[in-house]
Amino acid sequence: MVIEVVRIGQRVVRDDRVTTHVALVSRAFGAQKIFMTEVNPEIKDTLDKINKTWGGNFRVEFIDKWKSIVKKKKAGNFKIVHLSMYGENINDVEDKLRNEENLLVVVGAEKVPREIYELADYNIGVGSQPHSEISALAILLDRIQKGKQFEKSFPDAKRKIIPTKMGKNVQVNETRD
Ligand code: SAM
Repeated sequence: MVIEVVRIGQRVVRDDRVTTHVALVSRAFGAQKIFMTEVNPEIKDTLDKINKTWGGNFRVEFIDKWKSIVKKKKAGNFKIVHLSMYGENINDVEDKLRNEENLLVVVGAEKVPREIYELADYNIGVGSQPHSEISALAILLDRIQKGKQFEKSFPDAKRKIIPTKMGKNVQVNETRD
């Protein structure tokens, strides 16, 4: 399954830390790519550095208009999943989502344009209480992949963590620069 993420909404530029965390969660929880509007270019540098150290090829793409990418993906065999506390309960739709081939997950920032509710194939609530795009995204990605995302390896990593009961065990690949 291909999973990509797009962050929409106004004033994203004032919200660099949250945006970075949305991107980090996307990468660590098995998405391949994130699209962002109006963001600080440093976020892409941060993610590139993370890829270099911890592996994989997660991509950050800056876009001008969220609507064009949503429409393009929709026309290209992706189902659009919009995370919103007003949506259907995730418990009722997670099985259906697992059978989809390609997903574009849309998360909001401060203010979400009304149109996204109509463009989405699924409006999904991770509970019906307001919380955060970071937590909503993490839970959605985990429900869809049932934890399997944590069994995947990130190729070409300079550092690899060997999970351990106590302390830190990190394998360092000296051949990577
Ligand atoms: N006030 C905004 C609105 O009216 O849409 C919501 C802002 S909220 C801080 C930012 C984003 O977090 C939302 O757009 C949504 O993607 C996500 N989010 C927050 N709570 C959620 C929930 N219970 N279920 C799913 N997504 C949620």
